[in-house]
This record gives sequence, structure tokens and C-alpha cells, in this order.
Amino acid sequence: MPLLVNIDGTLCRPEEAVVSVLDRGFLYGDSVYEVIRTYKGKPFTLKEHLDRFERSAARLDIRLPDRDWLEKQIHSTIEAAGNDESYCRIIVTRGGGPITLDPTKSTGSLTVILVKEYEHFPDWMYAAGIKVHIPMIRRNPPAALDPAIKSGNYLNSILALLEARRAGFDDALMLDVLGRVTEATSANVFMYHQKKLYTPALRIGILEGVTRRLVIDLASRHGFEVEECDIFPEQFWTAREVMLTSTLKEVMPVVQIGDARVNTGKPGPMAKKLREIIQAYAHQQVNA
Ligand code: PLP
Repeated sequence: MPLLVNIDGTLCRPEEAVVSVLDRGFLYGDSVYEVIRTYKGKPFTLKEHLDRFERSAARLDIRLPDRDWLEKQIHSTIEAAGNDESYCRIIVTRGGGPITLDPTKSTGSLTVILVKEYEHFPDWMYAAGIKVHIPMIRRNPPAALDPAIKSGNYLNSILALLEARRAGFDDALMLDVLGRVTEATSANVFMYHQKKLYTPALRIGILEGVTRRLVIDLASRHGFEVEECDIFPEQFWTAREVMLTSTLKEVMPVVQIGDARVNTGKPGPMAKKLREIIQAYAHQQVNA
């Protein structure tokens, strides 16, 4: 099944799927979303993703459908898609209404679930690592559109990625307005230095990644020290390893930042170890 769509509880193929051009998600990016994936066909960390979904929606005052109903729709859409492993995107927009910015005029929210085959990042990418660019564009400050809100407006990340791709890099690592490292365009970042893991603190304005939380918790359980703090890009130049974390990437080694290589310019053992820890945990959870 290439892509299965669920619109407000009705399953359809993408070519039959219809969403109004007056929908505020389309007009203004006035929506929230989550991306989850399955391991052994079962959604992983669904609770954590739905908790974050609720936090994002609450910050924007977007009404979500009933959580039990939503969970059932997620499960049934994944099941109907019948993939070995699924990628599942859950979107709730503020809905339609007259063409006006005024959110109080919306006629009610719209729920869309998209399920497709989960495409693994190729092994060679984990073996070679990726190159990230530090773009001119800065991560929007929490006092503007807080990056902790996973909204349908990803233009900040899109502009950063555009800069990175044009400069020949795989991804962008955005700084905040004070020059601190925040996150990549759709992943959090960790640095490993002198036997300790470091990751930017939530207060500076980043998405609280589900994988970031898992890495912090599981790494600590495996005896590694982790600190959430301010990180400046210069600190990466002396780091042993740098890695990105996300639901889809798990733990991806970064081997180059701008012109500078990270350590030897080859992925290190820590990124590999953390990825194995995440995968083992995921398999254990879905089998439980
Ligand atoms: N940061 C941003 C901006 C993201 O969009 C994402 C995922 O989409 C992440 C971090 C990683 O979050 P998670 O681990 O929950 O997938």
C-alpha cells in the first residue's frame, strides 16, 4: 500500500482524498501534527507522541478529537495499510470557515492520518554519517512561534534546509538568536565529549523530541552521563561525536559541520551504541 489516507475517520486512497482549499491548515499552516513509526508493525511511543500532540494543540488552542477515538483511528489505519513497517503522520487543523486570519471563525477541526511504508534510512548513511550546515537563518525564539509546538508551519526549518541543500549539505543545524545550538530541521542534536553526552536544554526553544527523551533516559540507565545545557558551535570542533536523533532517524552520526570535520570525520561508536539501545528498547516495548 503506497499511501493510505484517513480523513475524519473515513479511509481513502490519496487520489480520492479531498480537503477543502479553505482549510486553515492549507491557508495558514494553522495545524498541529505528529509523526510516529512502527516496530514489528506496532506504533512505538504512541503515548508520548499523543501527549506532545495535546500539548501542541493546547498551546494553539486547536481542538483535538477524542483521544480514544484518535488512537483507534491510528491503529485501524496502520492495520488497513498492511505495511511491514509504517510511517504514520497525524494532522489536526483548525478546520475551515471564511477566509480570515481570525481563528474564532473556524467551523471545527479536521483530522487527517497518512500512513505509508516506513522507509529505512540506508545503512550506508549510518556507516558514512551526514554533513550538516549551520545556516544564516536562526531558530525562531520561544517568544515568537515556540519551537516546542509541533505545528504545521515548518517554514523556519524549510528555509534552513533550503540553505543547507544549496550549500551541498544533508541537513542544517540551527542556532538561536544568541548563537546557541538548537536542533536540526527535524531532529534533535547530541554531542559526546569526554565520556559525557550533552544536548541543548529545552528552555532555549527546541522541540522536545520523543527520541531525545529516550536517549537521555536510556543512556543514563546504561551508565552514561547526560547533561542538558547551552552548547555553542565551537564546542563541536573538539567533540568526539555529534549525532542527530528523531523518530525516523533513530540516532544518525554527524561527521561534518560546515567546513569542519567532527573528530576523525568518521562515525564513532557512541552513535552506534545509542542506536542499538533505542532499537532494542523499541523491540522490547512493542513485544510487551
Ligand atoms: N526537532 C524537530 C524540529 C522535529 O521536527 C523533530 C521530529 O520531527 C524532532 C526534533 C525529533 O523529534 P522526535 O524524536 O519526537 O521524532
